Amino acid sequence: MATNDALGRKLRMGIVGGGQGSFIGRVHVTAAVLDNRAALVAGALSSDPARAKASAADYDIDPARAYGSYQEMLDRERALPADRRIDFVTVATPNHMHFPVAKAIVEAGFHVVCDKPLTLTLAEAEELAKIVAGSKSVFVVTHNYTGYPLVRQAREMILAGELGEIQAIRVEYIQGWLRTRLETEGQKQAAWRTDPTKSGAAGCFGDIGTHAYNLGRYMTGLLPEKISANLKTFVPDRPLDDYGHAVIRYENGALGTVTASQISHGRENDVRIQIDGTLGSLEWHQEEPNKMIVRHNGKPHMIYTRDPNAPFMNQSGKAACRLPSGHPEAFFEAFANVYRAGFDAMAAAATGAAVEKKNTVYPNIHDGVEGMYFIEQSVASSKADGAWLPLKHPLARR
Ligand code: NAD
Repeated sequence: MATNDALGRKLRMGIVGGGQGSFIGRVHVTAAVLDNRAALVAGALSSDPARAKASAADYDIDPARAYGSYQEMLDRERALPADRRIDFVTVATPNHMHFPVAKAIVEAGFHVVCDKPLTLTLAEAEELAKIVAGSKSVFVVTHNYTGYPLVRQAREMILAGELGEIQAIRVEYIQGWLRTRLETEGQKQAAWRTDPTKSGAAGCFGDIGTHAYNLGRYMTGLLPEKISANLKTFVPDRPLDDYGHAVIRYENGALGTVTASQISHGRENDVRIQIDGTLGSLEWHQEEPNKMIVRHNGKPHMIYTRDPNAPFMNQSGKAACRLPSGHPEAFFEAFANVYRAGFDAMAAAATGAAVEKKNTVYPNIHDGVEGMYFIEQSVASSKADGAWLPLKHPLARR
C-alpha cells in the first residue's frame, strides 16, 4: 500500500463546500482520511459565512480554522507557519464556483482536489490548465468511478492487449431522480444542477455524461476523434437537458456511445460500461462493483470478483483493494483510491521530486479539460441536429 513515508506526516486538508445539507463534501472528507494519510484541519464550508462556521463542528474543525469564505481561508492559511498550514484543498461546491476557487488555491501555492465537471465553461478550464501547468500544484479531478478495483483491473488488462484491439465502447449512466421538477420543491442539489448559470451549458450531460465519457476513455485509453450528440429536455420548463445520447468515433476506428438519463423511473445510479475487443469483451456495473464479466466466444463467461489475493487479479486491481474478497467495497473506497494516487503525487512533490501531471493514475486537469470539451461539443452538436464535431482536444491525455 502507498504511504506518506516520503513526507513523514499526514497531509493537511482544507475544504470548500461540504456544509450542512450538502452531498459530496462529506464523501470527500471520508475518502481523504480513509488510509490515515490526511487530516481535515480547515474549511470554508458554505457560501453562507454563518453556516460555514456552524458546519465546522460536524467535521471537528477547530473554530479558529473554520473560515467564512475561501478567500479568507487561503489568506489566513498562507500566513501560518509551514508546519501548520494546509497542503491541499478540496473543492466540493457547485460547478460555477470551481474555477474561481481552484484558481485561487493554485495561486496560493496549494494542491487541489476538484470535483467534476472541472469548470463552468471550456474557456475557464483551458485557462485553469495553463495556470496549473505553470505551478507546482498537483491537480486531481474526482472522476471517482476510475477508482474501483475492477475498473483499474480492466484498464490494465485492456492496455496490455488482453481484449485485442478495442472496437466498441458502450457506456450508460442512468438515474431517475429528476423525473419531476424537484428543483421547484426546495431540493437544492436539483436547483443548481438545472440552472445554467450554476451548472454550465449542459444539465444531465454535464453532471453525469462527463463521468460516463471519462470512464470509457480511462479504461481503454482510446483517443477520441469526433462526436455527434442529441440532448433533450423531457421535463417541461427545465432549462437544461435531462437526457441524451452521444456517438463517438475514436482515432483507431472504434465506435463509442454515451447515454445519460436523469428521468428514467426507478433507476438509481446505474453506471454501466461494456467494451468489445477483437479477442474478448467485458462488462462492469457500478451498482455491483465487485464483479466484472469477461466473455470470449465459445467459452464459458468469466465472472471476475474483487479479490486482492487471486492470481487472476493484476497489479492495478490488487493495489486498489483494501479488504479481502467477499467484503463489499464500493463508493467510499473508490473515491479514496483517487485520493490515494493524488496523495502519492503530493508526498513526492513535497520532497522536491518532479511530478507527472498528465499520465497519472488519478484523473487530472487534462481529463477535466477534456470533460469540458465533451460537454461543449455535445451541446453544440445537438444544437446542430447531431452534426459531427471534433472531440480531440490538444490538452487531452494520450
Ligand atoms: P451541494 O449543493 O449538496 O453542496 C454544495 C456545497 O457548496 C454547499 O455546502 C454550499 O453551501 C457550498 N458552496 C457553494 N458556494 C460556496 C462558496 N462560494 N464557498 C464555500 N462553499 C460554497 O452540491 P453537491 O451535490 O455536493 O455537488 C458539489 C460538486 O460535486 C458539484 O460540482 C457536483 O458536480 C460534484 N459531485 C460529484 C460527485 C461525484 O461522484 N464525483 C457526486 C455528487 C456531486
